[in-house]
Amino acid sequence: MTLQVQDYDYIVIGAGSSGCALAGRLMDLLPDVRIALIESGDDHLSKAAASNDPVNHEFLAPTKTMLLWNGKADRGYKTIPQKQLNSRAFPFTRASGLGGCSAINYMIWMRGFRSDWDENMPEGWKGDDIETEFQWLEGKIDPFLYESNTLCKRATEAARSLGYKTAVEKSKWSSPGTNDLMRFSMTKEGLRRDIYRSLGADNDRITLVRGVAERVIFRDEGGDEQDTPCACGVKLRLKDGTTKDLFVKDGGEVILSCGAIDTPKLLQLSGIGSSKLLNDLDVKVIKDNPFVGEGLKDHVMYPMAYGINELPEKVSPNGINSSLHDDSLNVQFLFNDGVTVPIMIPIAIKQPFLEKAPVETLCQGIRDGMVLWYGTLLSKIVGVLIACSPLVRTKMQSTFTVLVNVMKPVSVGSIRIRSRDPLDDPLIDPAFLREDADVQTLLKGVQIVRKLVKAPPLADIMEKELTPDGRKHDDDIESEIEQIKKTCLPYHHSTGTCSIGNCLDGQLRFKGINCLRVADASSLPFHPRVPTNASSMAVGARCASLISESRN
Ligand SMILES: Cc1cc2nc3c(=O)[nH]c(=O)nc-3n(C[C@H](O)[C@H](O)[C@H](O)COP(=O)(O)OP(=O)(O)OC[C@H]3O[C@@H](n4cnc5c(N)ncnc54)[C@H](O)[C@@H]3O)c2cc1C
Repeated sequence: MTLQVQDYDYIVIGAGSSGCALAGRLMDLLPDVRIALIESGDDHLSKAAASNDPVNHEFLAPTKTMLLWNGKADRGYKTIPQKQLNSRAFPFTRASGLGGCSAINYMIWMRGFRSDWDENMPEGWKGDDIETEFQWLEGKIDPFLYESNTLCKRATEAARSLGYKTAVEKSKWSSPGTNDLMRFSMTKEGLRRDIYRSLGADNDRITLVRGVAERVIFRDEGGDEQDTPCACGVKLRLKDGTTKDLFVKDGGEVILSCGAIDTPKLLQLSGIGSSKLLNDLDVKVIKDNPFVGEGLKDHVMYPMAYGINELPEKVSPNGINSSLHDDSLNVQFLFNDGVTVPIMIPIAIKQPFLEKAPVETLCQGIRDGMVLWYGTLLSKIVGVLIACSPLVRTKMQSTFTVLVNVMKPVSVGSIRIRSRDPLDDPLIDPAFLREDADVQTLLKGVQIVRKLVKAPPLADIMEKELTPDGRKHDDDIESEIEQIKKTCLPYHHSTGTCSIGNCLDGQLRFKGINCLRVADASSLPFHPRVPTNASSMAVGARCASLISESRN
């Protein structure tokens, strides 16, 4: 059955970080407009808050973030095998549900570098323009500064002894250097913030429609191909399998905020993209634009782990307590006390696990629950027994994980639909470390870390480096590169797949199509050198301001 509704000024597709910011800000600026906000996934956070089942509380606790991946809030995407990384195919977590990825992320809140906006964005998007949007967001979200622990202070002092200056403390914009303060978007009680409600996207004048957008509808679809296509609605598939067409009023607009993976997917399914790709898949071409889905960038993370002989007196809500920015790379200091923060080591040593791991690493993995998360039933039982054994307990170690991150990747990947079926996952090729420059950036970071752990006062608490294969990689570049290939991970900060310039004008309007905008992480023509949630939300909020300005 197909229902038709024709009532809205704006249809926003995707109630994630940017979609919620867009809808909430639009309500503040233009309280009389009617918005339909379409979301494919569930309201996981409010369900979790209302539930007595502790399993659901994973949604609320930032330290349990990883337990959400591959669960009901994750789309379960996987990359295509990355040839340059021993053909590993990576799970590529993307949320489905109100709040989007902000409902399953680590809740780090960073505006990033003002200069990145000044240098890479067109008029209307410079630091001063976007400052207004960050202020609006921060007024709603109230991110808080987490003061570091003594061990992180050791790390930042060691960095200073190597010549790194102190990043401007308490500044809301990032600055180069080392810093032992972190901002988080969670509540002061340490719970995940519900951004759908915090940003006012639950306003009564916004109609939340639950369904999967399968394609954008254009006026006179069968009409003259010379005409400029004009978006006027969206074809939805509801949970019960029925379809529903939603339309905007005359002069209304359709805005895509499905994120850096699903926005290009939806555009391509709607006939907007490379005509070669679309023709090959028998999708009617509405607008040929070879850049749709291209330009994918993501940060790559390489975790290095060390045993330490002292426990921090406290750890931040997600364990990351301080960091060091060095232009194209970033080093984050993370303490695993194994209780509050059991997350990074298990992932880092997951693959070669049980091959040649030294006993300390093995014990760490068992204690941190790796076997419990990834193993078969038998290995889970064995894991629990081993974890309880006296030998393992005496070998337990607290660890210091240093995440070396490529923050200005040169490698560029792509998103392409594999068929015209909306249920098919897209082909995700993040091209991690495909360019040697990115490998060199990681190697530079590794060298910085090796110097750092030898510098006092950090050196005083460091024990040996824990590598998955138990080997020492110091000074052996080839084996270090091999190690990087085996253990690097996505940081889940995708951007750039439908960017301003290539696909959009400075008003976020899709070039050559009327009444269609894109406002999310895919719109960014530069890759922020920080985690991307705040920037994505700022794009959504800015879109609302641009719409409001154009109506006045
Ligand atoms: C695991 C993980 C951890 C992260 N940690 C951090 C962090 O700590 N700090 C930080 O700054 N950044 C972090 N990020 C990145 C940050 O969360 C994202 O950059 C940001 O959420 C992107 O916002 P978005 O609006 O572009 O996309 P999303 O937030 O993904 O929103 C897209 C929304 O659209 C919906 N949707 C998609 N397709 C359709 C469709 N066809 N029909 C209807 N609805 C649809 C989705 O369900 C989703 O709700 C993390 C990301 C991940 C995945």
